[in-house]
Amino acid sequence: MKKRKVNKIASVFTAFFLAFTFLSRVEAAESEKSLQDQTEEQTQKITHMVAIDPGHQGPGQDMSGMEPNAPGSDVMKARIVAGTQGSTTGLAESELNLSVALKLRDELEERGYQVIMTRTEQDVDLSNIDRASIATEQGAEITVRIHANGSEDASVSGALTMIPSSANPYVGELYEDCYSLGAAVLESYCQATGLENNGVVETDTMTGLNWSTMPVTIIEMGFMTNPSDDLYMADENHQEIMAKGIADGIDTYFSQKGSTIE
Ligand SMILES: [Zn+2]
Repeated sequence: MKKRKVNKIASVFTAFFLAFTFLSRVEAAESEKSLQDQTEEQTQKITHMVAIDPGHQGPGQDMSGMEPNAPGSDVMKARIVAGTQGSTTGLAESELNLSVALKLRDELEERGYQVIMTRTEQDVDLSNIDRASIATEQGAEITVRIHANGSEDASVSGALTMIPSSANPYVGELYEDCYSLGAAVLESYCQATGLENNGVVETDTMTGLNWSTMPVTIIEMGFMTNPSDDLYMADENHQEIMAKGIADGIDTYFSQKGSTIE
């Protein structure tokens, strides 16, 4: 009788032990799974690849060459053009574009993006087709082209983004994604900098847009011919803010894209 009671206690104890072991295993498997989910999320973020194209280049390049304005087009445009320059600071647009683009690269890499730069120095010979091809060959998902504006009217100020229209025969099918990207980048940029928002402009005459194989936008960060915009943009601290604003827009673009896929 006594022995049987001991046996019963032992079997109850064994049952508890087995149940406990089983639950621990379930728990371990669950926490392993959530760790795997986390790793997958991180990997997903890292795999977004962004091409940044700092517009123009340093002086000294042959500007006489021409190239087709779009794949198969008879319309020829200059393969290389000089940018504008700061009316107050004298800063070349190519230098401003590169300076902001390098800060944008660092900011995006810190946020986990892979970044393709079409150039990291002034002394390059890159046509607009070359710039689009680099992004395609490297497998970028989007291209953001960095520029600054110029006008004969010094009072004109503010930022805008440019995208192809839905009627564009070459890249019209990219219109909706280009619009999402252009709008997100412009909104975040203007919010961060306080510069005037001149809207998303549709154009089908830009070689660099027409040759793109992925969603693309040009940001015209401000008017270098406007003394206030010029002084603002030439400041290195402001350039950090400008780069963060553009990066915020890229974050927004990919998060909106993620939610429409689901
Ligand atoms: Zn430009």
